Amino acid sequence: AEKSSLNFIERIIEDDFARGKHSQVVTRFPPEPNGYLHIGHAKSICLNFGLAKKYGGRCHLRFDDTNPEKESLEYIESIKRDVQWLGFSWGAHEYYASDYFEELYKRAVRLIKAGKAYVDDLSPEQMREYRGTLTKPGKESPNRTRSIEENLDLFERMRKGEFPDGSMLLRAKIDMASGNMNMRDPALYRIRRINHHRTGDAWCIYPMYDFTHPLSDAIEGITHSICTLEFEDHRPLYDWSVEETEMECHPRQIEFARLNLTYTVMSKRILLQLVTEGHVSGWDDPRMPTISGLRRRGYTPEAIRQFADIIGVAKVNSTVDMALLEHCLREDLNLRALRVMVVLDPVKVVIDNYPEGKEELLEAENNPEDPDGGMRMVPFSREVYIEREDFMEDPPKKFFRLAPGREIRLKHAYYITCVSVEKNEAGEITTIHCSYDPESRGGGTPDGRRVKGTSHWVSVSHAKELEVRLYDNLFTSPEPGSRTGNFLDDLNPDSLSTIKAMAEPSLIDAEPEAHYQFLRKGYFTVDPKESKKGAPVFNRTVTLRDSWAK
Ligand code: ATP
Ligand code: MG
Ligand code: MG
Repeated sequence: AEKSSLNFIERIIEDDFARGKHSQVVTRFPPEPNGYLHIGHAKSICLNFGLAKKYGGRCHLRFDDTNPEKESLEYIESIKRDVQWLGFSWGAHEYYASDYFEELYKRAVRLIKAGKAYVDDLSPEQMREYRGTLTKPGKESPNRTRSIEENLDLFERMRKGEFPDGSMLLRAKIDMASGNMNMRDPALYRIRRINHHRTGDAWCIYPMYDFTHPLSDAIEGITHSICTLEFEDHRPLYDWSVEETEMECHPRQIEFARLNLTYTVMSKRILLQLVTEGHVSGWDDPRMPTISGLRRRGYTPEAIRQFADIIGVAKVNSTVDMALLEHCLREDLNLRALRVMVVLDPVKVVIDNYPEGKEELLEAENNPEDPDGGMRMVPFSREVYIEREDFMEDPPKKFFRLAPGREIRLKHAYYITCVSVEKNEAGEITTIHCSYDPESRGGGTPDGRRVKGTSHWVSVSHAKELEVRLYDNLFTSPEPGSRTGNFLDDLNPDSLSTIKAMAEPSLIDAEPEAHYQFLRKGYFTVDPKESKKGAPVFNRTVTLRDSWAK
C-alpha cells in the first residue's frame, strides 16, 4: 500500500511484514465485562477488527475478566451483541482471561522459582509508604529477601485460602528506585474471596491486569496488542511480564489516543453512575454514548464505522466534535431513510373550496436519494394538519410560509392560500381557512407561478397519533464536569421531551429500528423496546441541520 496513506499502526505492521517478522496480523479487542461498550470502544473495535481484515489476519474477542466484583454475564452478552451489530465477527476466537488462570498461576510460580517474585504482607499503608513518589525513590520491603522456598509455600497457601482477603500480595521483584512507578515491584496477585461469573469459587486469588493482559496476549499469539495511551508507561511491565515468564510469543504493545467526544462522558464508571442513579433509563437509553444507546437512538453501524475511519488513529489525545459523528450519521441516513410526513405541533387547516366528504390518494416519493425507493400513496382530504410554526398571522417580509393572503405548496398535493383564521378565547389560532387551486395537483400549475414555501401536512381524518421522543445532548457543556469538577452539574434537564405527533397512516405499522426522515423535521427511528404493535414510539435520531464545518 501507499506508505503516506497509512496510519502509524499500519506502517508498523507493513514494516514487520517487510522484515519477515510476521506474515499475518493477530489483534484482539479485550473489553472488561464491567459495563456496556461505548463509542470509544467502537473506535477500538473498528481499529482491531479492521486491521485483521485489511491484512488477512484475525481479531480475537477476549474478555478481560479478572475483577469479578464488577463483572457479569449481562455485560458479556451485551458486548457480544454490540460487536456483532457493528458488523464484526470473531468466529471461533472468543476467549476469556479467566480460562488462563491455571496457566498464569504456573507462570507466577516460575517467576518465584527464578527469584523474580515474592509474597509481601506489608499493610496497605506500609505498601504505599514504601512505594515512594515520582520524585522520591521507593524503599525495598523487608519481605523482598524471603527465600524462594518460603515464597513458594506462601503463594500456594494464598491459593488454598489460608490467608484473609487483602492480607498479602504476590509482587514482581523489579526495581523500587525505578523512575517508572509501574516498575516498583508491582502486584501480580491479590487475595479476594468473591464468586467469579465463570470460575465460581475455584479461586480466591486473582491476577492483576498488568500480569494477565500481556500473558493472555502471548498465549493467544497476538502479534500487535493495541491499547490506549494511558498504558504507554505500563509497556515496560508488559514486556517484563512476557520476557520473565518465558512466553514463546512476544506481542508488541502499541498505544494510540483514546476517543473523546464533546458533550459526552466516556468512562464506564461514570456511565454506570448515570444508570444506577437514574439520570437515564438504562445503559441503552437513547441519550447514552453506549453502542446500544446509539443503536436505539437510530445510529447505524455504517455511520459509526465511517466515523471511526474519518477520525483515524493518532498518538496525541484530543477531543472530537460531536458534530462530526452526527454528520456521518446524516450522510448515511440520507441514503437509507424513508421520507414521510409527520406534523409534530399540529394546527388545523380547512380548505373551504375542497368538496366536503371527498378524499383522494396522492403519490409521494419514498426517497429521492434512492432510485429504487419507489412511491407510496398518501390520503388527502378537506382538513389537514400543518406545523403551527409554518403559519404566521402577521409575518415579517422574509417569512415564506403560510400567512393571510399568501400561497404555499402542500408537499405532494396542492397550492393553498390562507383566507382567514379562527381563534379561541385565549387568542390562540385553532383553525386556518384556506382555498386551494385544483389545477395545482402534484405541486405545479399551468401558469407556472412560483410559490416560495412548501409545507408537510397530514390529513386530519386519516392521521395517526404517535408518541415521539425528542432528544438533546445529555450534557449542556462540551466538556462535562470541567466547570465544577462534577459532571452531574452539567446534566441537561431538557435532554428528553415527549410529544404527541400526527402522522400519515403508513407509520402505524413501522417496524422496530426502521429509519425515517420526517420531512423538514429530522431523522427518526422506531424504538425497539417501548413500541407495541400498532403503537410505535419514535425516537428522534438527529435533526436535519448539519453543523459540521468541513
Ligand atoms: P473505560 O475507561 O470506559 O472503562 P476501559 O479502557 O477501562 O474503558 P475496557 O473494557 O478495558 O475499557 O476497554 C476495552 C478496549 O477498548 C481497550 O483496549 C481500550 O483501550 C479500548 N477503549 C476504551 N475506551 C476507549 C476510547 N475512549 N477510545 C478508544 N479506545 C478505547
Ligand atoms: Mg481496561
Ligand atoms: Mg475501565
